Amino acid sequence: MEDCIFCKIVKNEIPSIKIYEADKVLAFLDINPHNKGHTLVITKDHHETFDKLPKDILTDMIKVTQNVAKAVVEATSCHGFNIIMNNHKSAGQLVPHVHFHVVPRFDKDGVAGRWKTKKYDEGEMNEYAKGIKKRL
Ligand code: 5GP
Ligand code: ZN
Repeated sequence: MEDCIFCKIVKNEIPSIKIYEADKVLAFLDINPHNKGHTLVITKDHHETFDKLPKDILTDMIKVTQNVAKAVVEATSCHGFNIIMNNHKSAGQLVPHVHFHVVPRFDKDGVAGRWKTKKYDEGEMNEYAKGIKKRL
């Protein structure tokens, strides 16, 4: 896609520090890391979100993400790690080209806290379950 930053990274039109490249997937360092070693795993073709990904590409992507996570853990000696994917603006996606974040985490690194939670009204939990289940 013409104006997509990540497509430009794939085509080497803008520089990046690449970590791993396969047929369908690329991993490179995030330019504004939550912690040093924060890596992005992207599809080489332009796809916007997780739900639209062809299954074969998703399979490659998740396997590469696991390998990258293991490498990041070893290389940074982090205490934990997050695998994050933001989908659409309302969920915090800034670059509309599908990507997993592999974020090394350290005890008390102050990077993020627990997400806020909500409560279901009486009976609502079953309604939500029904609505989701019937679409699977
Ligand atoms: P999102 O909010 O879409 O899930 O995350 C996009 C990520 O891409 C951000 O963490 C941001 O720092 C990273 N990013 C944006 N532009 C560039 C770039 O030009 N190069 C690299 N390496 N990372 C980028
Ligand atoms: Zn793109």
